[in-house]
Amino acid sequence: MGMKPLVAGNWKMNGLTAALAEIDRMAAGFDAALAGRIDLMVCPPATLLAALAARATGTGIAVGGQDCHAAASGAHTGDIAAEMIADAGGTAVIVGHSERRSDHGETDAVVKAKAEAALRAGLTAIVCIGETRAEREAGRTLEVVGGQLAGSLPDGAHAGNLVVAYEPVWAIGTGLTPTPADVAEVHGFLRGRLVALLGAEGSNVRILYGGSVKPSNAAELMAVPDVNGALVGGASLKAADFLGIAAAY
Ligand code: PEP
Repeated sequence: MGMKPLVAGNWKMNGLTAALAEIDRMAAGFDAALAGRIDLMVCPPATLLAALAARATGTGIAVGGQDCHAAASGAHTGDIAAEMIADAGGTAVIVGHSERRSDHGETDAVVKAKAEAALRAGLTAIVCIGETRAEREAGRTLEVVGGQLAGSLPDGAHAGNLVVAYEPVWAIGTGLTPTPADVAEVHGFLRGRLVALLGAEGSNVRILYGGSVKPSNAAELMAVPDVNGALVGGASLKAADFLGIAAAY
């Protein structure tokens, strides 16, 4: 497939102002050859978004948010709108991360509304889905991710404004990963569902794998058919690890 892979880093609730310097180290390694092969993105906590976006200007590294509210503005203390992410220099936002789904009770309908807010603000929506360990052990993985995908996809999605991230909940931050065969099964299934839901456009939507990706396993995971990049948590905090993953391409 001819699409350009995306390696996106999710810093989660990590990073004080000193972490801004990490973007300089990332930029130093993101040379023209690598930039020609992949897209690179960092999603810092909201407090660092504007400063990181400013510092990343001219490096080719994109900056995104980790969550947004479904509304454009209003009485929602503590939340941020997709428009605010765009205004701060972000070009994308993660929605439906499993930590948002579990910590904040976000349903597919909520995730869909947030993704639609992202598209309205001109951002790319990175929609996360993934099964729990219990769901996998019960043989329900495809049923679960298929339901999450259908329920979370924003209206108006196309390959230019939508990225799907498959992140098995049991693989996030645990050091555990599915086998390449298991990843292939899920990504192949998701590709079919995307084509069913979006038509031909669905064949060009990037499907990222996320969950304990690190430099030592990136090449194996990224070589799986229909894996079009990675969503990286812990290993995106340090430039050396993040670039080590990017170098898998
Ligand atoms: C994530 O939070 O999106 C993630 C994949 O985390 P980690 O890489 O740390 O497992």
